[in-house]
Amino acid sequence: MVVMFSKGRFRLSVAAEKPLEVLPGVYLVRADNSSAMSFSGTNTWVVFNRSTYSCCIIDPAVSKQRHQSAIEQLCADQRIDPSVILLTHDHRDHAGGSNRLSKVWHIPCLGLRNGTLSQATLDSFLGKGFIRIIPLPGHSSDSVGYYLTGLRALFTGDVLFSEGWSFVGSEDSSIADYLDTLDRIEAMLEKGFVKVVLPGHLDLMNSERASIRIREYRQHRKDRLTKIKVLLERDGLVDSDAIVQKVYSDLPDERLRLFAKRSVEKQVKYLLS
Ligand SMILES: [Zn+2]
Repeated sequence: MVVMFSKGRFRLSVAAEKPLEVLPGVYLVRADNSSAMSFSGTNTWVVFNRSTYSCCIIDPAVSKQRHQSAIEQLCADQRIDPSVILLTHDHRDHAGGSNRLSKVWHIPCLGLRNGTLSQATLDSFLGKGFIRIIPLPGHSSDSVGYYLTGLRALFTGDVLFSEGWSFVGSEDSSIADYLDTLDRIEAMLEKGFVKVVLPGHLDLMNSERASIRIREYRQHRKDRLTKIKVLLERDGLVDSDAIVQKVYSDLPDERLRLFAKRSVEKQVKYLLS
């Protein structure tokens, strides 16, 4: 089945570990690892280039047997073995299954973190220009997007979701980079280069929905920064726990408090820079 977009909000009902062809040659295999941070589970994308008889796995997610088997069965059904694994970034819920899959097919795993990802290497595995690397730092310094040129589709990892917010608080994250990344994606959408956004969690977005989400993300970030700025300047509040209490009173899950604290620390750093 190939999913068709309709106007307005778009929802995809996906069962974990059941491959779904969302665009021609692009399959979603959602891992069964739902949590407060990984939403309904990590999206593993399996992309087939039927003209060069090659295939890549974007974000192999977790090292669970069921997930690995679902990916292996999909490739067996398509009669195309993957030639490479690609990481949008090296967080465990995206990269955790890479070692195991690398061993199954004896294929490399390319990512920015370990310095193995380059356009020339990618072209050598999948055919020249089939997928282009788009730097999308911010959520982490090694975050990249993969742009599927033929379908004008952009895999975005943890940068932009159909619901909720992206976490910008890990050790090597940067608010300034993240805001630039939103601008970069928005420009690609406005110029018509990107028609579909395929995130690392939750649903696909058409360009209309992705543009709305970018504006919401920017406003959300601006609102948080404004609140923190007031606390810093007016109240002289510098303790991040106290700032979290005041700014993140709407946390949907108490377990997210630590992440909110890390995010506050990054925002304070941004405001003071
Ligand atoms: Zn991440």
